[in-house]
Amino acid sequence: MSKVIYDRVALIGLGLIAGSMYHAIKRAGLAREVTGFARSGETRDIAREIGLCDRVCDSVAEAAEGADLVVLCVPIGAMGQVAQDISGVLKPGATVTDVGSVKGAVIEAVSPHIPKGVHFVPGHPMAGTEHSGPRSGFAELFDNRWCLLVPVEGTDQAAVDRLESLWKAMGANVEVMEPDHHDLVCAVTSHAPHLIAYTMVGVADDLRRVTDNEVIKFSAAGFRDFTRIAASDPTMWRDVFLSNKEATLEILGRFTEELFSLQRAIRTGDGDLLFDYFTRTRAIRRGIIDAGQDTDAPNFGRGGSGAGDRASDDRASDD
Ligand code: NAP
Repeated sequence: MSKVIYDRVALIGLGLIAGSMYHAIKRAGLAREVTGFARSGETRDIAREIGLCDRVCDSVAEAAEGADLVVLCVPIGAMGQVAQDISGVLKPGATVTDVGSVKGAVIEAVSPHIPKGVHFVPGHPMAGTEHSGPRSGFAELFDNRWCLLVPVEGTDQAAVDRLESLWKAMGANVEVMEPDHHDLVCAVTSHAPHLIAYTMVGVADDLRRVTDNEVIKFSAAGFRDFTRIAASDPTMWRDVFLSNKEATLEILGRFTEELFSLQRAIRTGDGDLLFDYFTRTRAIRRGIIDAGQDTDAPNFGRGGSGAGDRASDDRASDD
């Protein structure tokens, strides 16, 4: 039985997510041909050199033309422009999807450029690492991770089902969600935590000047995990915050209130409050492990405690 789900897939943008999709599609034989395009000649050359995509094209229109599925894998701020650039060449009956980490803003930017007869099914694989670029993708990235599909009202159900079957065949679990709900969930689980990591590393960097590099030298696991998250792509994360403004600000408001209450508990010596709070958060960690979304091994399964250790699971910094 053929496993091909789409005859031709076009990947627009050739970084971590597109690269991982290419390898996952090839691993399971899910498309007959995968074309690709990236903005710079340098990335296209690297893609050709390492065999990322069956055919790397020199224009976005050439890559998208005749494709049954076009996947927009560019930063959120570039989605609208790319959709406009391909709108004239899209094949009737084709599906356009994206992998952007924010959904409301992408739907607003892309929808006006989708011609009649073409399906638009926005998506978001909740998997990532702090690495980016054409060499960073790998086939296992989506294994047992969630991919959220956020179809706009009136979308053809068959197009949604077909995309769902592709994500499942690439190893992911799929759930369908409303755009606003998606953006709120991601603000809590991913966007605000990234901002907190960026802030903590920034604070430590400022401190380093008064502690003579000791912050880096004695860096313990907690801080090292922050530095890994804070090494994530600046373009991608700038776009995430600019386009998921409302939900992120809502969560950061709540975060600040909680932080102040813990700060007060420390100042007043309210050990009961701290203990109860940490007991509740420990239970949340247990829930994540029980749901199979992380390892129970100490220190995330790292081999030792030296500064050079690498996470055994390269996907640790999920988006
Ligand atoms: P990446 O590794 O930085 O790759 C981005 C790619 O987009 C590069 O190939 C870049 O080309 C290309 N690009 C940028 N602007 C473009 C334009 N105007 N036209 C055509 N190509 C353009 O990024 P990524 O991590 O794969 O992220 C891609 C998308 O996935 C983002 O929307 C992000 O929100 C989403 N996402 C990321 C993660 C994660 O953890 N990384 C997880 C889930 C979803 P050049 O190399 O030539 O500049």
